[in-house]
Amino acid sequence: MNNEADAACGAVREMRMLTGLAVSRGFVAGPAFLYRAGTSEQVPEYRIEPAQVEQEVSRLADAFALTRTQIRSLAQELKKRISGDEATIFDGHLMILDDPSFLGSCKEKIAKNLRNAEAAVKQVADTYSSIFAAMDDAYLRERAQDVGDITKRILRNLSGGGDAHALRVEQPCIVVADELSPSETISLPKNLILGFATDRGSTTSHASLLARALGIPAVVGLGSLSEQIKSGDLLLLDGTRGKVIVNPGREERAAFEKMMLRSRTLEESLDQVKSQPGRTRDGRSVPFLANVDNSTPMTDLYAVGAEGIGLYRTEYLWLQGDREPSEEEQTQAYTAAARALPDGQSVTIRVLDLGGDKMIKGAGAAHKEANPFLGNRSIRFLLRNPEIFRRQLRAVLRASSHGNVRIMYPMITAIDELHAANMELHACMAELKAEGIPFDESIRRGVMIEIPAAALIADALAKECEFFSIGTNDLIQYTLAVDRVNETVARLYQPTHPAVLQLIDLSVTAAHAHGLKVSVCGETAADPVMAVLFVGMGVDELSMSPNLIRLVKRAVSQISFADAKALADTVRRMKGTPADKVYTFCRNQLIKLVPDLLFLQ
Ligand code: PEP
Ligand code: MG
Repeated sequence: MNNEADAACGAVREMRMLTGLAVSRGFVAGPAFLYRAGTSEQVPEYRIEPAQVEQEVSRLADAFALTRTQIRSLAQELKKRISGDEATIFDGHLMILDDPSFLGSCKEKIAKNLRNAEAAVKQVADTYSSIFAAMDDAYLRERAQDVGDITKRILRNLSGGGDAHALRVEQPCIVVADELSPSETISLPKNLILGFATDRGSTTSHASLLARALGIPAVVGLGSLSEQIKSGDLLLLDGTRGKVIVNPGREERAAFEKMMLRSRTLEESLDQVKSQPGRTRDGRSVPFLANVDNSTPMTDLYAVGAEGIGLYRTEYLWLQGDREPSEEEQTQAYTAAARALPDGQSVTIRVLDLGGDKMIKGAGAAHKEANPFLGNRSIRFLLRNPEIFRRQLRAVLRASSHGNVRIMYPMITAIDELHAANMELHACMAELKAEGIPFDESIRRGVMIEIPAAALIADALAKECEFFSIGTNDLIQYTLAVDRVNETVARLYQPTHPAVLQLIDLSVTAAHAHGLKVSVCGETAADPVMAVLFVGMGVDELSMSPNLIRLVKRAVSQISFADAKALADTVRRMKGTPADKVYTFCRNQLIKLVPDLLFLQ
C-alpha cells in the first residue's frame, strides 16, 4: 500500500468491516471506485401516434440487431479469456434475445398499446424478470439478472448510447457496485480492476462465476456497502473469507499485508505443484483428472495440471444443438479429446446422461415426468432407445483407435443394466469389425456409482467392469433424498453424512477386492477437505473442474496418506455426529496439518 492509499485511510474516515459471500478467492487492497449503473438510466416512456408505429418497430429491430452483435462479440471475447461452462454465459443471453416471443411481445406493445420502443422493452422485460425471479430454483432466479442485463443494453442502444460503458477507470481500484451484470463484469478493464465488492449477488450469479473464472477476487452480498463508501476510500478485500474493510486502521492494514504475502506465496506454490503428478506427501499416487465436455479447450487442460480426463460429459453435445448429434459428429468430438491426450493419459467418455436437470426437446427424453430425477434418465433412456445408444457407442469405439479411451455407464442401478449395456457395446464392436473400422478391442468399461443401489451391489458390478467412478452429486441426492438443485433443501445436502460415506466405503472395498480403481468425479472431489478424506478412504483418483485442480492437488500433496487414513478412520467412528459437525471436524484437523488450507477454500 502506498502513501496515497495511506492518505485515503482511516485518519479521517471511520473504519468499517463488512462480511458478505466469498465468491472469488484472493486478497487485494486499493481505492474504491463506486460504480452506479442503474440509477443513471432513466427510461423514456411515452405514447406514440399510429403513424409512428412502423418507425418505432424498425428502431426496435435495429436495437435488437445491434445488441445481438455486441453480445456475440462479448461471447467471443469471453471464450478467448476462459474455458469451461462459464465461457458460455453469453450463449444464454443470446437465447433470451433470440426468443421470438421476446421481440414479438415488444412489437405488440408498440403496435397495440401505442407505446414507444423503450417503454415496450421495459414492460416486457419486467414481466420476464418477474417470472424468473419468482422461480423456486436459485439458478433460474438468477436468470432474471440476465434479462436485466440484456434490457439495459437494448435500452442503451435505443437511446443511441451504443456500447459505451460508465466504467471508465483510470487507476487500479476495487469496483464497488450495487450489483454487477455479466456484461459489466467482462467489461471491467483487466489491468486496472483489483477486485469487486457488491451489495447484492450470490455465489451462483453470473458475475460471481465470471469472477472465479477470470481470477478477480470478489465479495458479494455486502448489504449496503455502496451506500457507505465514496470513490477513493481505501478498501481491503478478502475474497477468500468474504470480508471487506473500509478505511482500515494501521493494525488492520498490517495484518492484511501479511495475509496478502502468504496468499501470494501460496499462489506461487500452486503453480509449482500443478505440473507434478498428484500424490500425497509420502508418495501415494493420486492422479488428478479433469471433468470436461465438448466445449472445453483440451489444450488448456494440461496447463492447469490435469493428468487425464476422468469425466467427459457427452450430453452437452445434445444440449447445445437441442438435437441428437450424428455418429460422425460424435466421433469427431470424442476423437479430438482422445488425440489431445499426452501418452499414458486416458479419457473416460461417459455415455449420454440426459434427463433429470438435463433435458432436450425431441430426443425422446420424457419431458412430462412427475419426478424426472427418478424417471427415464441416463442409461435407462439409452437402453430404451438402442439406436441412439448404438450410434454413441460406435462413435466412442471409433475414437478409441486414436487414443486411450475408456467408456463409462452412468446411473447404473442393477446388474442387468450393466449386462444390457455391455451387450450393446459388444454388438457395436461386432458391427465395426465387420465393417473393417478400427477400434480398441480391449476398451475399458466403467460404472458410475451414483445411486445407493449401485454401491450396495458394488461387489457384483465390480466383477463385470474395469473401473468405478463415484458420482457424489447424484449419490448424495439419492441417498439423502435431497434434490441437488433445490436451494431450499441445500443445507441437507451433506457429503459427510455417514450414510453417504458408508456407501463410498462399500464401493471402494468392492472395487479393490476385484483389482479395480475408483475415482470420485462429483463436485465434492474439488473441496480440499473432502478430497483428503476420500484419499484416506482409499479412493485412487480425483476428477474435477479443471480450474480447481491445482488447489486440491496442493492440499493433497501436503498431507501424508497415513494422516488421511487416520482421519477417515476417525470419521468412520463418528456415525452419531451430525454431518455438518463431521465436516467441521475434518476441516479443523486438516487446518492443523495444512495451515494453508484456509486459503485453499
Ligand atoms: C455426479 O452425479 O456426481 C456426476 C459427476 O454426474 P453429473 O453431475 O453429470 O450428474
Ligand atoms: Mg450424475
